[in-house]
Amino acid sequence: MEFHGGFMGQMLRIDLSEKTIQIEPLPESLVAKYMGGAGVNAALAYDLLIPGDDPLSPRNYLIFGAGPMIGTMVPGAAKCNLTGRSMESKFLGTSNHGKFGMLKYAGFDHLIITGKSENPVYLKIENEKVTFCPADHLWGRDLFESTDAIWNETSDDFDVTCIGPAGENLTHDASVVTNKCASMSRTGMGAVMGSKNLKGIAIYGTRSVSIADKAKFLKLHKELYRGIRLHPNLLAWRKYGTMISVEIFSKLGLYGAENYQSAFDDKFFEIFNPNRFVSEIKDGDWACNACPIGCKHFIRIKKGEFAGTTISVGCMNAVIQTYGGQCMLNSLEEVIKAAETAARMGMDWMSSAQLIALVMELYQRGILSKDQIDGLEPKWGDGNVARELIRKIAFREGIGDILAEGLVKATDRLGPESNRYSMHTKGLGMIYDPRVNLTSTEIFSQITNIRGHASNVSVAMVPRTPDQIRRYCKNLGLPEDAIDRIVDEKGYNVARLTKWVEDVTSVMHIMGVCYFPLYQRLPFALWAELYTAVTGREMTPHGLIEISENYWNIQKAYNLREGATREDDTLPERFFTDAVPLANKEVIPPRDRAYVDRLVSDYYEERGWDRTTGAPFKEKLAKLGIR
Ligand code: SF4
Repeated sequence: MEFHGGFMGQMLRIDLSEKTIQIEPLPESLVAKYMGGAGVNAALAYDLLIPGDDPLSPRNYLIFGAGPMIGTMVPGAAKCNLTGRSMESKFLGTSNHGKFGMLKYAGFDHLIITGKSENPVYLKIENEKVTFCPADHLWGRDLFESTDAIWNETSDDFDVTCIGPAGENLTHDASVVTNKCASMSRTGMGAVMGSKNLKGIAIYGTRSVSIADKAKFLKLHKELYRGIRLHPNLLAWRKYGTMISVEIFSKLGLYGAENYQSAFDDKFFEIFNPNRFVSEIKDGDWACNACPIGCKHFIRIKKGEFAGTTISVGCMNAVIQTYGGQCMLNSLEEVIKAAETAARMGMDWMSSAQLIALVMELYQRGILSKDQIDGLEPKWGDGNVARELIRKIAFREGIGDILAEGLVKATDRLGPESNRYSMHTKGLGMIYDPRVNLTSTEIFSQITNIRGHASNVSVAMVPRTPDQIRRYCKNLGLPEDAIDRIVDEKGYNVARLTKWVEDVTSVMHIMGVCYFPLYQRLPFALWAELYTAVTGREMTPHGLIEISENYWNIQKAYNLREGATREDDTLPERFFTDAVPLANKEVIPPRDRAYVDRLVSDYYEERGWDRTTGAPFKEKLAKLGIR
């Protein structure tokens, strides 16, 4: 079938070993089942990645995907996906950000990279022309310098995606960053890129993305845009970004402290006050491509020890939550300086902070001595030590060489006692404490998610009544029988709700649309109509959910093929054994293992997976051509 809009209809395949490029048609069969972006990426990964292979093997792939809305003027149509084998576990690795859409203007929906260059290179992609440019002179330079250098050698029309020293040194938490601001951070794709001797990718394109039904598109676009413009929280979102939640999350005890030994209260709000952030530190807004919200921050520290530090931050909440909460760095300036250090190294903020929190706790407990940490004394809140550890991890120096292996493998080397304090699921650090709240879909999904934690699947971060949840489900257009399974007069089942929230947010992700709350709350049916208008392919809300289910089924099939079992869908032991004291002296008991286990079974059942093993039923896989 021909592509009339949305899709460019082509994939660019590059082999770095052979220095070859191939332009291939986008397979219609994949679009029909998985639509595009992250969906088609998952299917390509299932086909291309060799079961059980090393993520750092030249045979491994990096698969970039830009969904059908990307490149159009659909608000928030920015989120491109990067898929490969996770560095943190044997499972599928995925990450996304809002600045890779130039791929569409160059003429491609997907960019598939394999092989390993003999010497460091960066790719220059200008429409269909691909050049393998030497990058020996960039190897070892930090991510900001490397990006600037590539801009100098190409032009600032190019979007430049780079890795830093962390990626070059195969640090498990290395990120892939575009234009020094937008980061595909989680699951360590920067290390995969480094293993291929690929320092960067510069892309510039002059194509446009067609719209199949322009009149209908403009009408829907107006409606969508109006929904965003009139949203009462629009300006607050732009001003505070994800810091919009700091006050309420602090009150609820949602910020873990000292690697989850305790939890903050209002004190966190005092230290990381969003108004002080906006008035004294924030220097401007920035937005992902095509987004009128612009919830991201350009930051410049103007006074004090770190004056002159500048950095672009997408999710400020994650920065304060991890460096501030889990490592206890105690000022906005300290967490920003740590974030800047990690950004220059090309390292994930969340994961690097979680590694540091682990070391701090092991030191506190006497499991690691000063001698084992290269003479450092990693006390809670010590920003100097945190920054030194970030640098050491990126360059694999001393203790950094062990920590560079990530939260799972590092504890194998640090000794059996350390394992208990490594707070992750599937190798990705936990972001929220499930003892404090297990009624939120984002917090629950940390247990069952394919890669570990995923942001923004976040219904009910604050307590919701059954009526509110029922209304939410009805607005989404969930089938009545599903609503009845999810909610009754006494409460709601977070596991069953998570399945549907994931489906809604995943299909937005697959289309390439941001699923931050403002977008997520727009009428779901509108996205189906927009897809039809953009691509000329009939779509219904039910059809969108089916695409999403296919996406979840193939990802699960991938993980099962790699040996995933029910034991992978659980929480770190501490959450089952230790109570958590809040700063207000309230003590929240540990989670009951049987209760969590029941929720996991409910989640599997709601997904249509075997309630015991979590395996999708054969007919679901057969539909995808998987035996
Ligand atoms: S709302 Fe924020 S994260 Fe989403 S597309 Fe806009 S700027 Fe990017």
